[in-house]
Amino acid sequence: MENNDRRQTVRQQIIALLRNENLTVRDLSQAVSIQEKDVFEHLAHIDMSLKSHGEKLTGKPYICLDCGFEFNQRKKYNRPGRCPQCKNSHLQPAVYHIP
Ligand SMILES: [Zn+2]
Repeated sequence: MENNDRRQTVRQQIIALLRNENLTVRDLSQAVSIQEKDVFEHLAHIDMSLKSHGEKLTGKPYICLDCGFEFNQRKKYNRPGRCPQCKNSHLQPAVYHIP
């Protein structure tokens, strides 16, 4: 288990990275050496704390590479399983950014 200090540090690192560039969850997991599922957890918290400061986590959604469906309506931070339109799971990863 990670302790709270380490979590805070990782979260600050992720915020700093996203202020500089557009990154996927994979990029972030490699940059701060945590698992992708933990990155999603951090993103959800970062989104909430940015909103409380009048800022926003933006970026591009997951996109289906087979039919072009954009996963725009997603409120949750996780990896979609399949495209609801064509049922394929060949997805272009979402990109995150803090403008
Ligand atoms: Zn599709």
